[in-house]
Amino acid sequence: AAAMLALAGCGSGRDEESGGSKDAKGFAANSLIGVALPAKTSENWVLAGDLFSNGLKEAGFQSQVQYAGASTTVADQQNQITAMVTSGAKVIVIGATDAAQLSTQVAAAHAQGVKVIAYDRLITNTPDLDYYVAFDNFKVGQLQGQALLDGMKAKKPNGPYNIELFSGSPDDNNAGVFFNGAMSVLQPEIDKGTVVVASGQKDVKQTAIQGWKAEGAQARMDQLLTSTYGSKELDGVLSPNDTLARAILTSVKGAGKPTPIVTGQDSEVESVKSIVAGEQYMTINKDTRNLVKETINMVKALQAGNTPQVNDTKSYNNGSKVVDTYLLPPVAVTKANAAEAYANDPKLAPLTK
Ligand code: BGC
Repeated sequence: AAAMLALAGCGSGRDEESGGSKDAKGFAANSLIGVALPAKTSENWVLAGDLFSNGLKEAGFQSQVQYAGASTTVADQQNQITAMVTSGAKVIVIGATDAAQLSTQVAAAHAQGVKVIAYDRLITNTPDLDYYVAFDNFKVGQLQGQALLDGMKAKKPNGPYNIELFSGSPDDNNAGVFFNGAMSVLQPEIDKGTVVVASGQKDVKQTAIQGWKAEGAQARMDQLLTSTYGSKELDGVLSPNDTLARAILTSVKGAGKPTPIVTGQDSEVESVKSIVAGEQYMTINKDTRNLVKETINMVKALQAGNTPQVNDTKSYNNGSKVVDTYLLPPVAVTKANAAEAYANDPKLAPLTK
């Protein structure tokens, strides 16, 4: 977490906001662009792959979009990136399967003049990362923590509230960022005693779900219900995303317990349905269409020999450097604002009617 602290004053000194300064000489308009994505642990990754294939083609590039396999994710992704460099890719966009395991491949790419963009997840401990494009993931956690408190209060005006905490896969740099964001809101309440983690499991090591796997979350929730909630009431669960939220709800239902307030993220179809039906309490809208569009804008700028536009040159220290970042704002969604939040999304809007 220390590596994530902002280093003030370490920007590159260029005028990134203008997006216009000449940087390198660019590359041919029909060049190959590599996109290396993690395993399909949530719908957003499936969507991103399709959007990259179509969007890069539309922009005149050749593209190679690949996913890491479900089991040997790290080696798969390392090999895919190496192959993209060999194939002559000019830019490689990476949704890292393990943030800390790509420095060798990224260094090799850089040695060939390939530009590297981290997509959604930061790549850590390498000076060879050029750009990062993502939603503000600390803000995602804050929105989840706040929604959890709001939801519990709306249901039961006076605490103390019993909650349980879940976090994502420890190899995904985002998992800790989401958790820290949420705890920045929840910890003061825990300190006051208005919110109680009844199992006592508050450490990120205890709350983590390896590989973002639904079955892992369901099994941990089963255990918590047995160990801690024989007679106690469970008021809320901090879940870092929708896949895990639905697994947690399945566990609670299976145990015949009343539905607690459960957070989520990603606006997955089944979770939006669940929110509209009054089961899952909230999710986050991180519109993948916008994230892919901004990434392709970066690729286009690099192709033309321009410096891509970024809006944060201070916050994302990956342990080796402060990475120039383009950050988008996440939106919290509950039943109350679902129709408004998804009004421009042809897939989700009909679910809110
Ligand atoms: C993404 C989340 C997603 C999770 C699991 C994270 O890095 O930011 O949107 O839920 O991975 O796929």
